[in-house]
Amino acid sequence: MRMSKLLAPTLRENPAEAEVVSHQLLVRAGYIRRLASGIYNYLPLMWRVMKKVEQIVREEMDKAGAQELLMPILQPADIWQESGRWEVYGKELIRLKDRHDRDCVLGPTHEEVITTIAKHEIHSYRHLPVNLYQIQNKYRDEIRPRFGLLRGREFIMKDAYSFHTTEDDLDREYYVMADTYKSIFKRCGLETRMVRSDSGAIGGDVSHEFMVLTHTHSGECDVFYCNQCEYAANSNRAESITPAATTDGKEYFSQEAIVETPDCSSIEALTKFLKIPPTLICKALLYIKDEKEPFLVLIRGDLEVEEVKLLNAVQAYEIRMANEEEVYKYTGTKKGYVGIGNWVISLKEGGVLLFGKEQSSMPLPTVVDFSVKELKNFVVGHNQAGYHKVGYNWHAPDLMEGHYKDVKLARLGDTCPECQKGTLEMTRGIEVGNIFKLGKKYSRAMNATYSTEDGKEDFFIMGCYGIGISRTAAASVERYHDENGIIWPIPIAPYHVVVVPVNTSDETQLALAERVYNELKIAGIEVVIDDRDERAGVKFKDADLLGFPLRITAGKKAGEGLLEVKLRTEKAAQDIPAAEVLAYVQQQLQSWNAEAVLTHA
Ligand code: ATP
Ligand code: MG
Repeated sequence: MRMSKLLAPTLRENPAEAEVVSHQLLVRAGYIRRLASGIYNYLPLMWRVMKKVEQIVREEMDKAGAQELLMPILQPADIWQESGRWEVYGKELIRLKDRHDRDCVLGPTHEEVITTIAKHEIHSYRHLPVNLYQIQNKYRDEIRPRFGLLRGREFIMKDAYSFHTTEDDLDREYYVMADTYKSIFKRCGLETRMVRSDSGAIGGDVSHEFMVLTHTHSGECDVFYCNQCEYAANSNRAESITPAATTDGKEYFSQEAIVETPDCSSIEALTKFLKIPPTLICKALLYIKDEKEPFLVLIRGDLEVEEVKLLNAVQAYEIRMANEEEVYKYTGTKKGYVGIGNWVISLKEGGVLLFGKEQSSMPLPTVVDFSVKELKNFVVGHNQAGYHKVGYNWHAPDLMEGHYKDVKLARLGDTCPECQKGTLEMTRGIEVGNIFKLGKKYSRAMNATYSTEDGKEDFFIMGCYGIGISRTAAASVERYHDENGIIWPIPIAPYHVVVVPVNTSDETQLALAERVYNELKIAGIEVVIDDRDERAGVKFKDADLLGFPLRITAGKKAGEGLLEVKLRTEKAAQDIPAAEVLAYVQQQLQSWNAEAVLTHA
């Protein structure tokens, strides 16, 4: 490829709207262009990168026995109504009507379509297990499309769906996919950790995310990871061991009492006023579930609620903190004074703890975080503005046993829940893929069955496995770049080599550059020649910005048949006789070794 012809419109400045490095560099280096919010053109260099990522994914999926197919983007609404997601998917689902006024969607994911295929085309246990995948555009009207390719409204995903007769077989495939994912990301040059995740809208019990740890401030979410073992988790899922409270409260309160606490609606104010540590406080927070049901959360004063954990704990679609009016309506007090001081604890069917007045017709379902279990002689709101109860102790610990939940946000420096030795550190992470055990969720909803060995009909047991192709490519830039530009790992670089004649009007330099360029091209090396009539400085800058792994320069020593060869990852260059350049390049490309790169990283 000739640079003079290549459509890679580089820019001098970072685009103003780009907040993260991958977005900045991909735009600046002429890889992508925005068409509308969250919608991008993949210009020729980007498309080459994407095809390489796709090819790695394809090869590894095929190796694992999965079969590639292609499903439609445009889907009828009725299958979404059948699965129940037409109602629950919300505004992220792009809905439209066709000319006959029939509802349609642009597929954000393909569980409904694949389950329909299985329902109609897979009749017998003899055809199971099967794993089907596609690499296809996805559409999600993300609330905040941002960070370029990391969170688009149109993006490319590899999605795979497996069908099984038993949970055990799903288990087996789940781990085959986990291994496949590890190989895929490693081949792309990315270090990932597999972390337990919350399964979000897709549902199902067990799921894991594959996170690229960026080790920079950029990335899409916070990841806690252990500095001693392999434990890692998204911050909205991470467990941790928090230091125990340093006091049993005896030194502060010798007996239970109600005390006046004016202007103490925050933990900070309360600790100052009572001169106690926040670990001696039980915070009581009122939430609203799915816009109708109030519930209470109890958590130690120094800790914060992790709302995704809480959402899962109460099995809601949506939760939010109650407003002043609601607080008054359900507890009779003001924010900051909600508590349990004069309430009793009871248990509802289904094991829901209820806190409320003895004769109350409306006791509040209550989520009790583990952190308050050990509290002794503590402080808690009294459901009366301006008052707290101090020196309080649980009066029904037996009833509460077995009902504690983990809804706290983990903190930096907490102890690792897995090895219980290391401490948790935090970095930004990018979720590049995930795997879910769906079980019978979709097959049951959509009545997709097969006949079992003993002639009965049963629902398929399913798994699903996604990889963001476009996000993976962007994650690589997020991970590998320097102040001058992108540094592509060899396996996904759009071209491997750029040949730069320093001065195109110098015939010797140009001739040698052309000779090497042709030689490499004929040998099957992916190479670009920067034949533009530009200053050397501009060409070198662009070569760095574009991120090709190797640069070969024909300069002053061209007359002696010497070329200067430089790796993008290194500062220094070396002179190599023209006749040896091909062998050198081949050796560099072949010796690329994921293991070495990753341990280096
Ligand atoms: P996220 O939590 O980041 O929104 P998700 O849980 O919605 O991701 P899935 O529906 O499981 O993701 O999609 C599988 C993969 O597709 C993700 O792991 C991610 O790599 C990619 N992906 C999801 N949403 C986007 C998006 N808006 N833009 C680019 N890639 C995405
Ligand atoms: Mg999402």
